[in-house]
Amino acid sequence: TMAHSEALLVLENFIAGKFVPCSSYIDSYNPSTGDVYCRVPDSGKEEVEAAVKAAKAAFPIWSSKSPLERSQILNKLADLIEHDLEAFAQAESKDQGKTITFARTVDIPRAVYNFRFFASSILHHTTECTEMASVGCVHYTLRAPVGVAGLISPWNLPLYLLTWKIAPAIACGNTVVAKPSEMTSVTAWMMCKLLEKAGVPHGVVNVVFGTGAKAGEALVCHPDVPLISFTGSTLTAQRITEKSAPHCKRLSLELGGKNPAIVFDDADLSQCIPTTLRSSFANQGEICLCTSRIFVQRGIYSEFLKRFVAEAKKWKVGNPSDPTVDVGALISKEHLEKVRSYVKKAQAEGARVLCGEGVDSLVLPTSNQKGYFMLPTVIAEVKDESCCMQEEIFGPVTCVVAFDTEDEVIGRANGVKYGLAATVWSSNVGRVHRVARRLQSGLVWTNCWLIRDLNLPFGGMKASGIGREGAKDSYEFFTEVKTITVKH
Ligand code: NAD
Repeated sequence: TMAHSEALLVLENFIAGKFVPCSSYIDSYNPSTGDVYCRVPDSGKEEVEAAVKAAKAAFPIWSSKSPLERSQILNKLADLIEHDLEAFAQAESKDQGKTITFARTVDIPRAVYNFRFFASSILHHTTECTEMASVGCVHYTLRAPVGVAGLISPWNLPLYLLTWKIAPAIACGNTVVAKPSEMTSVTAWMMCKLLEKAGVPHGVVNVVFGTGAKAGEALVCHPDVPLISFTGSTLTAQRITEKSAPHCKRLSLELGGKNPAIVFDDADLSQCIPTTLRSSFANQGEICLCTSRIFVQRGIYSEFLKRFVAEAKKWKVGNPSDPTVDVGALISKEHLEKVRSYVKKAQAEGARVLCGEGVDSLVLPTSNQKGYFMLPTVIAEVKDESCCMQEEIFGPVTCVVAFDTEDEVIGRANGVKYGLAATVWSSNVGRVHRVARRLQSGLVWTNCWLIRDLNLPFGGMKASGIGREGAKDSYEFFTEVKTITVKH
């Protein structure tokens, strides 16, 4: 169904500093109403070819600018996005289904900060130098941008994750062709409108919109794109690895998770419970870092469960533009069905659904009846080998199970194919360090969640990814290093 009251928003690709229409388009839905409200270019080889050509042409001038010149442009772009923060937040909420509060306080501020952070960090890198006095030599390293970077991002944190790639890529002197998710393209298109005013030369940032199979794959297969930074699912990453293999491309892959929270009996539950609710249900559970397996030590298991479920029931689901709402709409009808199917499978296996899907009733405003909503759902007595404990669900569903010993819980927490993020709750400092060291996880938060210092490495182990991003890590990924020896 179409929203007759409003004109459809029609996006265009951004190539060589100009908006260019596409020959065909894809419908994009407002997840909170189920209406088509936007049309996104269905780009393919031809559009990607034009964008890569523009990025290649812009590379010599952009890469020869000083880090300070690039830094000033990135800061200007940050200021411009910040100036329009409310418009960006409204657009992100409408396009993605997330609450306006989350978009205002997390997504858009972080997109602004991504540009400011890399505008600053690019000024502070040093390279290595060694001396071999016995043979009269010094050795030093140089770092240079690689060329045209291909950037592919997912739908859960659209502008936040796209700018986490664009900012370091262009700060280092690369030019880029970016492909946002076809389901959430609007804020990337809005950002393109600000590039010229920020002083970003034409061709430095090109954005092609479209599906992964057509536009994404054309970018991955393009011989003049030596580097791909991808955030998305493990399955897509496998395909990207295969498709890029003939070109030996440099890949950074930030993928899914099945993140455990481990709650020991000496945890401060007054901190642990509200934070674990957020880590399970924030952004509808659609964050790669969300908790979906909560291991609680036997002695406090029933108390934890009682308090956790009582609080989960207070999370308000509804119209994302209502600032009092905690849970917005899921990204799509298909995704909602998939998330629901996990709850059904858990029930069929004999697990207990303590609140949410299939247990409580969901009351929605009239205008949101066709939206993709779901209540925060807590499942208990689910077996470790169940698909609900093994596969990434990526929705507002979390499993709570009991454990007895430290050794046992480390083995169970590590017993999945993923290794992205874990949280540990304990007031015993020795235990916190011991457990953190043994968890197979790229990030371990203890007695907190989602607090990030962008200077430090971010990324996953095992099926959660390859490579790390952060101040130094992104600099290394987006540059090529050279070792030079001088005999004097
Ligand atoms: P997805 O893999 O379906 O899509 C991600 C992007 O890849 C989209 O832009 C899509 O169009 C594109 N794509 C799809 N097929 C492609 C192909 N064959 N070639 C090139 N590009 C292709 O993922 P999604 O459903 O959009 O996002 C959710 C997933 O992302 C979850 O698994 C989540 O955990 C993961 N994620 C990871 C992180 C992280 O930092 N580790 C952050 C956010 C999301």
